[in-house]
Amino acid sequence: MRCCVIEDLPMGVVVGLAALLGLVLGSFLNVCISRWGAEPKQSVVRPRSRCPRCGAALHARDNIPVVSWLLLRGKCRSCGLPISPMYPLIELAIAVIWGGMAWCYGPTLLAVTGAVFFTILLGIAMTDLRSYIIPDEFTLGGLVIGLALAAMKSGDALVHSVIGAVAGFVLLWLVAWLGLRIFKKEAMGGGDIKMMAMVGAFVGWHGVLLTIFLGALLGTIIFVPINLLNRDKLVPFGIFLAVGAAATWLFGTPIIDWYRAYTGL
Ligand SMILES: [Zn+2]
Repeated sequence: MRCCVIEDLPMGVVVGLAALLGLVLGSFLNVCISRWGAEPKQSVVRPRSRCPRCGAALHARDNIPVVSWLLLRGKCRSCGLPISPMYPLIELAIAVIWGGMAWCYGPTLLAVTGAVFFTILLGIAMTDLRSYIIPDEFTLGGLVIGLALAAMKSGDALVHSVIGAVAGFVLLWLVAWLGLRIFKKEAMGGGDIKMMAMVGAFVGWHGVLLTIFLGALLGTIIFVPINLLNRDKLVPFGIFLAVGAAATWLFGTPIIDWYRAYTGL
């Protein structure tokens, strides 16, 4: 599909533009992470960006992704207290994701789909890590975006996406229900279930199975030792699912093909 002038630009320019867009989106993602993860949830539109410590509204010049943080040496202009390096790091990560997708797949719908998916996954991982919350805006909003992107591809892709979303929801709901019966405590929140519906819309039902497998494997390897030291620590399972989903999106097809050849399924 030839759409516009973007396809005629040199590859370096396309990657640069995608990375710049990623910086801006990363800056917005920071706002989403801190406000949707807050109790009570806050609007991402109003008020405008503020210092999380003193509440001073940020000037436009102090709100430039990465650059402002470096110029201010990581301190608020008003109160002088440190601003978390998480902000520029997330902006950089999203810039790398968008630039990297453009570099790997060119100016295509596939690149946009991958970049959007990874942006949502990073948002989920960060809110789950910081506040044990997986906001509906990421999961249900991401589900709608995933279905819409699949619909832009083809009718078959949309069917695949819908089946994936249903599979993700039903499977995680079952895992949560079993966890509740067996361990008599909530093993998984509603956020994880809605998250897997979103993931399924992007990776299909095969991908859902692989994501849950990778997430559970990673969660066991990393979390069991931590849990032995501190029994009351909550499991931010969304992070492991997010890493599993990203790996599935990138390497799922070769892994699933290998598994089928190996088992003869
Ligand atoms: Zn301040």
